[in-house]
Amino acid sequence: MTPYAVISDVHSNLHALEAVLKDIDGRGIEDIYFAGDIVGYGPRPNECIDIIIQRCKILIAGNHDWAVIGYTDTEYFNEIAMYAIEWTRDNLTDKHMEDIKEFKLFKSDPARDAMFVHASPKDPDNWDYLFSLTNAAVNFRSFQQKFCFVGHSHTPVIIEYAGPGEMLTIWDNTEIKESSRYIVNVGSVGQPRDGDTRASYAVVNDKAIEIIRVSYDIEKTQTEMREAGLPVRLIERLSYGH
Ligand code: ZN
Repeated sequence: MTPYAVISDVHSNLHALEAVLKDIDGRGIEDIYFAGDIVGYGPRPNECIDIIIQRCKILIAGNHDWAVIGYTDTEYFNEIAMYAIEWTRDNLTDKHMEDIKEFKLFKSDPARDAMFVHASPKDPDNWDYLFSLTNAAVNFRSFQQKFCFVGHSHTPVIIEYAGPGEMLTIWDNTEIKESSRYIVNVGSVGQPRDGDTRASYAVVNDKAIEIIRVSYDIEKTQTEMREAGLPVRLIERLSYGH
């Protein structure tokens, strides 16, 4: 089977997205899947929507995408995230608002034996964070496929399920075992939070899953954020990767 890439959490960071796509193209990979949150936080929402729609074979909604179009509750958003949601709403064209309304909460690709959902397969519209193994165990019962790709936490991690009580957390790459199933958090393209400032995504082939990190021009995005009047905290966090 041909290799494929899974990207997530672009958050309107055009320069990070372009760097990741260049890296994917450089590997000769054609199939790209998107696990949600094109917009929110960053300065270039319209361009990122166009690119994701054009380049991705499957794309789904994240909580920020749905927040912008009013499809999900925003009560749990902090003040800064909420400011960015309102900024995004003010700066999206009507066409791009309509585009987001088409995004579904989860999708699967039978050819890849894979499901794609932004937060968790158990409760896609609850926007839970899938951090603990206990939580992962419950979630492995909520999808049938071999692979479930998620984003949301902005922290890349691979969780392998080899049988009841047999789970393993792997951080950056692993061989694929025939009898195991996997939940893969591909990390964030546009706002990594694991202390590594580089954009994160996953490449999968017949044998392995690998988390890839790609450098991009962080200052360029930060300059655009300043010009857009986005909150300082959101601008600064790109320099620290958290
Ligand atoms: Zn996100």
